[in-house]
Order: sequence, then structure tokens, then C-alpha cells
Amino acid sequence: MFANAMAAERAGEEERLERLAASLFHPTGVDGVYGRTGAYESVVEALTALITRHRPAGAEVFRFPPVMSRKHLERHGYLKSFPNLLGCVSCLCGSESEILGVVNRFEEGEPWTQSLEAADLVLAPAACYPVYPLVAARGPIPRGGQVFDVAAECFRREPSRDIDRFQTFRMREYVCIGSPEEIQAFRGAWIDRAQQLADDLGLPYRIDLASDPFFGRGGQILAISAIQQELKFELLIPVRSEERPTACMSFNYHREHFGHIWDLVTEDGTVAHTGCVAFGMDRLAVALFATHGTRTADWPAAVREILNL
Ligand code: ATP
Ligand code: ZN
Ligand code: MG
Repeated sequence: MFANAMAAERAGEEERLERLAASLFHPTGVDGVYGRTGAYESVVEALTALITRHRPAGAEVFRFPPVMSRKHLERHGYLKSFPNLLGCVSCLCGSESEILGVVNRFEEGEPWTQSLEAADLVLAPAACYPVYPLVAARGPIPRGGQVFDVAAECFRREPSRDIDRFQTFRMREYVCIGSPEEIQAFRGAWIDRAQQLADDLGLPYRIDLASDPFFGRGGQILAISAIQQELKFELLIPVRSEERPTACMSFNYHREHFGHIWDLVTEDGTVAHTGCVAFGMDRLAVALFATHGTRTADWPAAVREILNL
């Protein structure tokens, strides 16, 4: 009887989430890739403006395209950490007649994609990756550290029908480069500020220690070590359920990892440390709709006011 009641509750929850997804997204035939409705998009825009109002003083703004240098991503070590999530741009190369040959094969109903060649581009898996080589090329980081405001549409090959997991999604980040103390202070302040933001938005949440889901068996050792070193905290919101809450923001300390790779140094000649706070814009928007309902006009007045909706 108890098990039946649990199953019925779960089925009800799933139906609620499916209805919600249908009101926010248009299907494209691919799981985790959707057209977005105007109402949904206006919430993403309102959240973007709200986060901009909290931009740290002096932050330099970068907006990146959805693709980035394949060489840079290789040097970042991404293939060691998350090769399973990577999307690489591939194109038809060669002479006109070679390309026509491929097109003809396709027209005749034959496979054609093996003729694609990897380009010098990958789909950006996070917004902050292009920052480190760009800033390193300018010379040492001034005393006091530097902060950057970055955003990009990101891709991760994790197809899912879950309402909180997309293959392509918007990521906004504040990135700090400087001394270990500066990064820790930056991250600590943002963990506090993020909770204030979630309170203002009427979102239930908890902060928890997390680890990146590194690839493979070796990845589990990396993950344990990352947790021990407290490299990542997340702000979790119960979008789908209390038991499996959704990471909507993450607060990351990379230590000297990127500093070493890109020869990022501070003015006193030591390797720079880096950290970032990432806002999953699409997850935050979904969390707002899941919490307050599908019609923004019905949301609590205080939430509409802070978002100027
Ligand atoms: P998860 O454990 O849920 O996969 P993550 O640890 O991979 O999250 P990060 O790498 O910290 O996430 O990415 C920064 C933020 O980007 C996350 O806090 C989340 O809000 C958002 N994000 C990550 N993956 C996705 C996804 N597949 N769909 C939508 N948003 C995502
Ligand atoms: Zn980052
Ligand atoms: Mg992930």
C-alpha cells in the first residue's frame, strides 16, 4: 500500500514536470535541445539583468561565442576530465568535387558523415575556459587580483529528458584570478551573496560540497580528492525532488591548475590561482517556474519586483 502511494506520488510529480516542460519549451526532436518560449526567455533576461546588478566592481566583461579553440580546450586538460561530454565541430573539407561526392552519397541514401573532418573548433563546455589564455597573454595579474564577467552558450553531450538537464544551455560566470587568499575571499563572499539572491527570488535551496563528475575510474579518485580539498560548492534547488536537487550555481576553486597550464602569474612572480562562480541561467529559470508556477503574472509580488517582471 505504502509503495503504491509512493509510486503514485512519483507519477504525479513526473506529470507535473512534463506539463511544465511543455509550457516552457518547444521540442526539436532531440532530447535536451529545445526552442524556448517568450515567457521563459523573458525570465532568463530578467535573471541576467539581476546578476549584472551584482557584478563585482571593476569586473571586465567578456561575451564568448558557443564555439572555442580546440587547441585551447586540449591544453586545458578537458580530454582527461570530461571526454564523454565534449562536442567537436566537424566539417566537410576538400575540393568542390570531393565535397560533391559526399553530397551525392547522401542523396543516394548512403552514409556520409564519415567524410566529416574535425575542425579547429569545439563547442564550449563552460563559459570561463577562454578567459585564462586570453588574460595570460596580457602579462602578470596586478596586485589585488582581477575579476571577469563572462557568459556563453555551452554544450555538454548529456542528452536527457529531465527538465533540468540540457545539451545546450546558457552559463554566466564571475571569474577571479589572483592569490589563493583573494580567490578564497571572492568565493566565500559569493557563496553568501548567492544565498541572498536565492532568498530574494523565493527559491528553496541548500549549499553543499560537490565534486565534478570526472570521467572514468581514475575520475573517482580525482572526485574524492576534490571533495577533500573543498574545490567545489553548489547551490542546490529541489526542482525535481528534495532527494535529487538540481545544482543551479557552482562555486569553484581551481587552485593553481589553470595558472600552471597557461603560465598565469601574479605581479610578485608566483603562479596565479583561479576560481569562478557559475550561474546556470536555464536551470535558474526552470527553478523559478517550478517553484512559483507557469505564469509569471501569478508569481509573488516581491519576486516579480526584484526581476522587474
Ligand atoms: P551537474 O552535476 O548537475 O551535472 P555540473 O557540476 O556538471 O552540474 P558545472 O560544471 O559546475 O555543473 O556547471 C556550472 C553550472 O552550469 C551548474 O551549476 C548548472 O547550473 C549549469 N549546468 C551544468 N550542466 C548543465 C546541463 N546539462 N544543463 C543545464 N545546466 C547545466
Ligand atoms: Zn568557470
Ligand atoms: Mg555535469
